[in-house]
Amino acid sequence: MRTVVQQLDRKNLKEEDFFVAGELIRKGKLVAFPTETVYGLGADACNPQASKQIYLAKGRPCDNPLIVHIADIFSLEKLTKEIPEVAYRLAEHFWPGPLTMILKKSDIVPYEITGGLETVGIRMPSDPIASMFIKASKRYIAAPSANSSGRPSTTRAEHVIEDLDGKIDMILDGGASTIGLESTILDLTGEIPTILRPGFITAKQLKQVTKIIQYDKAVLNRNKKLTVVAKAPGMKYKHYAPKADLTIYEGSSKAVIDAINREAKQQELQKRKVGILATDETISEYLYGIVKSVGTRENEITITSSLFERLREFDTIGVEVIYAESFDGMKHGQAVMNRLLKAAGYQIIKV
Ligand code: AMP
Ligand code: MG
Repeated sequence: MRTVVQQLDRKNLKEEDFFVAGELIRKGKLVAFPTETVYGLGADACNPQASKQIYLAKGRPCDNPLIVHIADIFSLEKLTKEIPEVAYRLAEHFWPGPLTMILKKSDIVPYEITGGLETVGIRMPSDPIASMFIKASKRYIAAPSANSSGRPSTTRAEHVIEDLDGKIDMILDGGASTIGLESTILDLTGEIPTILRPGFITAKQLKQVTKIIQYDKAVLNRNKKLTVVAKAPGMKYKHYAPKADLTIYEGSSKAVIDAINREAKQQELQKRKVGILATDETISEYLYGIVKSVGTRENEITITSSLFERLREFDTIGVEVIYAESFDGMKHGQAVMNRLLKAAGYQIIKV
C-alpha cells in the first residue's frame, strides 16, 4: 500500500483540503491526522472492519480500546448513554481540548473498538485540522496514537512515516503537535471521577469542575511489577519505549548531574553509546555522551511537546543507554513522569 502524505497549510485551511481524507474514512480506510496532543491514526469508529485495520497497522493488542474523536457535543449524546451532568460541565470547560471522558457506550459503538467493554472514551480535539477532518469525514473517528504499538507516540508526520509508512492510506501533515502528550483520561462511570491517565489537563484543573476526584491506583504506581490492575486496559502494556535502556535519576539537580556524569563516563569507558536527556537549565553541565535538552522547566510545554521526539531521536542515533532527569514537581510533572517511567520500564534511581 502506498501512504499518501498530504501537506496542510495551517494559515490557510480549506474545506476541500479534507475531501480525499474524508472519502477514505467513509471507505473504511486509515488516515493519520494531527491533534493538539499527538498524531492519531483514524478510522470510522462505527465500522468494525475499519477499526480492525488500526489494530493490525499498529500491532496493537485487541483488548486495548480506542478513543473516539468528535467535532461537536451532539456526537457525545449519540455515542454514549446515561451521561452524568458533570460530563457536560467538563465538556464546557475543557472541550475542545486534551480531555478524554469514559462513559457508558450507546448501541452504535461496536465492541471491536472498546475492547469488549460497555464503556467508551470520547474526546473533542481542539486542533482545527483534527476538527475539520472529523467534520469532512461525516463520521466519528476512532483513533489511537499513530505509532507502532510500544514505541513513543508520534508528534510529527515524519514520526508517523517512520512507524506506519506502507501500512496506512494517508497522513495529514500539519507539523508538530503543540502539547505532545496524550490526553488526560477521566472515567465518569463510577461514583467518583477517576483519572486513568494523567495528561496536560491536571487533576487540580479537573477538580475545580468535579469538586472531587481520584486516581486509578495504576496511575500512581512506580514499581516495575504492576501489582494493581489498570482500569485503562492500555496502561498495562509496555509503552513509549525507546530502543535504548532508559534510567531516570531523581534528586537535587546537582546530585542528578553528578550521578549521570559518573554513570555516563563509565558507560563510555565500556564503549557504549550514551544519550542524556537534560533540560536547557542543565545541558551545559553534562560532560559525556550525546546530550539533548527536552526543553526548559520555565516553560513546561516545551518539555511536554518534545519528550517523545527526543526519545525517537535517540533511537535514530542508536544510543544504547539513556539517562534522564526527573520531572517530578512540575505542574505537568505527573503527565511527563507517567510517560517517562513507562519508557524506562520504571527504572528510577534516587540520588
Ligand atoms: P491511545 O489511543 O494510544 O492514546 O490509548 C488510549 C488509552 O485509552 C489506552 O490506555 C486505553 O486503554 C484507554 N481507554 C480507551 N477507552 C477506554 C475505556 N472505555 N475504558 C478505559 N480505558 C480506555
Ligand atoms: Mg498510544
